[in-house]
Amino acid sequence: MSESGTNAIVWFRRDLRLSDNPAWAVATGSADEVVPVFVLDDTLLDAAGPFRRAQLLGEVAALDATIREHTGGRLFLRRADPAQVLADLVDDRTVGVFWNDDVAPYATARDARVEAALSCPVQRFWGTLFHRPGSVLTGKGTLSKVFTPFYNRWIVTDVDPWPTPGSASVATGPGESLDALVQAAGPAPLPPGEAGAADRLADWARRADNYLTDRDTPSIEGTSMLSSDLKFGTLSPRHIAQYLGTTTSGREGFVRQLSWRDWWAHTLYEFPALTTASVRPEYDNIAWRYDEADFSAWATGQTGYPIVDAGMRQLAQTGWMHNRVRMITASFLVKDLLIDWRHGERHFRKLLIDADLAQNGGNWQWVAGTGPDAAPYFRIFNPTSQSRKFDPHGAYIRTWVPELSALDSKAIHEPAAAAPLDLAGAGVILGDTYPAPIVDHAFARERTLAAYKAVKES
Ligand SMILES: Cc1cc2nc3c(=O)[nH]c(=O)nc-3n(C[C@H](O)[C@H](O)[C@H](O)COP(=O)(O)OP(=O)(O)OC[C@H]3O[C@@H](n4cnc5c(N)ncnc54)[C@H](O)[C@@H]3O)c2cc1C
Repeated sequence: MSESGTNAIVWFRRDLRLSDNPAWAVATGSADEVVPVFVLDDTLLDAAGPFRRAQLLGEVAALDATIREHTGGRLFLRRADPAQVLADLVDDRTVGVFWNDDVAPYATARDARVEAALSCPVQRFWGTLFHRPGSVLTGKGTLSKVFTPFYNRWIVTDVDPWPTPGSASVATGPGESLDALVQAAGPAPLPPGEAGAADRLADWARRADNYLTDRDTPSIEGTSMLSSDLKFGTLSPRHIAQYLGTTTSGREGFVRQLSWRDWWAHTLYEFPALTTASVRPEYDNIAWRYDEADFSAWATGQTGYPIVDAGMRQLAQTGWMHNRVRMITASFLVKDLLIDWRHGERHFRKLLIDADLAQNGGNWQWVAGTGPDAAPYFRIFNPTSQSRKFDPHGAYIRTWVPELSALDSKAIHEPAAAAPLDLAGAGVILGDTYPAPIVDHAFARERTLAAYKAVKES
């Protein structure tokens, strides 16, 4: 930090970019010098599985590189308590600390603590969302509990203008080095930084027109793969929507998905217990089973249901899973194994690169039928018909469950029902090379209906 002139501190968190970042823009127009800071929080780092950890560290290193390249400054990095780090940086030349807010309860509690520890003004923004919480409301002034009315408002809500950056210089003060951590974590699964994100966005723009026809086919790249960029903030949702526009039905359908992200974020903001309690409280009385062996078979992709196993192995091996398969695997845990959705939510949260408390918690509750706007509980996915419908030739299964790859596209969805000769011809021995189904779907369906019905009626 320079010895003279005013300074503004920007605390980066889930907004790891310089462009289209309101906290950065206002700070660079508020002081002579800006001090960009990232505080590595061991609680969050330890909660991340290997893929998210590597992506996070890669993103932070890339942000530092971008700051060096574009401003000549440096990202000031510390691994400590953020309240302490920021309080130590503030002095009598500091005009304020600037950051973009987050809806997660851990973050809101931490931020309140940080704000209380600071002796200078704090300016907070909502650069991580399209519309800030509380700005998309029904005629009665409440957050809609149903998605479609929320979307209908969301799409016509005026966008809060974001400021353009000022001309402050950027501090070069030394922080800690990330190198050892980055090396230990290995390369980021996705090319990091604003540059990696911009390439993904440009690539997506070439494919986005086909979104509505391709997005439910897990064997092809029919979705944007931008969830990690939204998670870490290497792209702003507004920039994504603006870049793509809504000129075709595919693009319009895609932008609609971005409003789901806002909806879950606004819901978490209003209902901080989204990952710990059912939004519809009666469902917290369901007599869940907890069977360690069943949970472990699900988590490791050994259920005997090929589409479920393919998805769980994709997650374990890459930190990502296709949306359709997230729905199928989540439904299997809750509705076929009758295991409490919170166990699944935690498992996904640990492993997903794009794990986001609001999106993960909201979607798990949606699948479990316990959320604000959930499919009725009696609509239970049949994993085998889902597999036939969305992976008709078994291409996705073949990629992730290679021991079944020699089965034809009829038998691959349900090896347990295949003719013994077909199994033998494909080298599949049920219970040996591939598990027999750990549960019978028809039986499981009745068991789940009874468990849900019992709490509805009580
Ligand atoms: C059980 C379950 C858990 C999930 N957990 C997460 C999570 O932790 N983090 C996460 O970002 N998404 C989560 N999702 C939503 C969705 O699966 C991912 O956003 C999507 O697969 C990411 O791939 P994409 O960027 O290629 O998606 P695209 O189809 O290209 O969608 C673009 C963007 O829209 C948003 N979006 C799309 N679908 C949803 C949705 N159903 N809910 C909220 N936002 C959506 C995401 O930000 C996504 O990046 C979960 C879905 C389910 C069923």
